[in-house]
Amino acid sequence: MLSCREETELMSQALDRPLSFGERFQLGLHLMICKGCRATEKHLLFLQAATRAWRENHDSKHVPPQPNQGETP
Ligand SMILES: [Zn+2]
Repeated sequence: MLSCREETELMSQALDRPLSFGERFQLGLHLMICKGCRATEKHLLFLQAATRAWRENHDSKHVPPQPNQGETP
C-alpha cells in the first residue's frame, strides 16, 4: 500500500500520462479507504477541468499577446 503522499504524486502524474494497470489499481484501492485522498483527487480533477476550459477558451479566440511584458520604459 502506498502512502498518501505517493498516491497524490500518482494522481498528478495521471494528469500528464496514462497510468499502468497496477498504478490505477493501487490508486483505486487507496481512494476507497482514504477520505483525504478522495478530496485531493476531486480538487485535482477540478483544477484540470478548469485549466483545460480556460485553455480551450483562449485558443478559440486567438487573443494576441499583451504588448507590455513587464517592461517599463
Ligand atoms: Zn490517502
